Amino acid sequence: MTEPVYKRILLKLSGEALMGDQGAGIDADILKRLATEIDELCRAGVEVGLVIGGGNIVRGAEKASEGLDRVTGDHMGMLATVINALAMQDALENLGRPVRVMSALKINQVCEDYIRRRAVRHLEKGRVVVFAAGTGNPFFTTDSAASLRAIEIGADLLIKATKVDGVYSADPLKDPEAKFYSRLTYDEALDQRLHVMDTTALVLCRDYKMPLRVMNVFRPGAVMRLIRGEDIGSLLVT
Ligand code: UDP
Repeated sequence: MTEPVYKRILLKLSGEALMGDQGAGIDADILKRLATEIDELCRAGVEVGLVIGGGNIVRGAEKASEGLDRVTGDHMGMLATVINALAMQDALENLGRPVRVMSALKINQVCEDYIRRRAVRHLEKGRVVVFAAGTGNPFFTTDSAASLRAIEIGADLLIKATKVDGVYSADPLKDPEAKFYSRLTYDEALDQRLHVMDTTALVLCRDYKMPLRVMNVFRPGAVMRLIRGEDIGSLLVT
């Protein structure tokens, strides 16, 4: 077997990735499948940090559009990410994989606080770290949290999971003419306003030279093949 080419990765899953074909919530089968793939990465010797969104439960901006205070909505969204993190913790532990959920908001009865040095220690010991509650601040997204945490923990690669195979010039599910980009710079993505991650997240990655792979994690074994050096999805670099 080829050795992994990455020692430490940060995988960003959207909340929607957990809900499958359901309209909301968490699909137990999908959760188990994703947990199994993450556990396999750990078995191969890769240190794995996870950021999971909360869009399957609450999005602050949507709540604000319904009349709720935006900051309150964002607090609800951040708590939604904690719910998803706990579900993933449970799924991984059922596979025998040690996990720590570390939250950017203090909820000590539920999980640990995010402390960078402690997070790195967990990773070194082979524990999956699920970074919950985003950045801990309203008006941010979990994409920005993923960029930030990837940089903070010194990840070799940030992986953003999507439903499609990578970055396209338009939504390939709607436009069959959409062009696929196998490699591009952050400035190209920003200039062309390509739908990759929000601007804050892209700028952070660009400025701190964090490489990003955008790929379909629903193709079984795809993340493992990437980790072993295959050119999968789209690569964004500074
Ligand atoms: N959120 C926030 N600050 C953060 C990260 C997330 O306020 O640093 C809130 C925000 O309301 C967001 C929600 O949490 O809509 C869920 O996160 P996100 O929309 O990024 O989840 P995803 O789309 O990845 O499922």
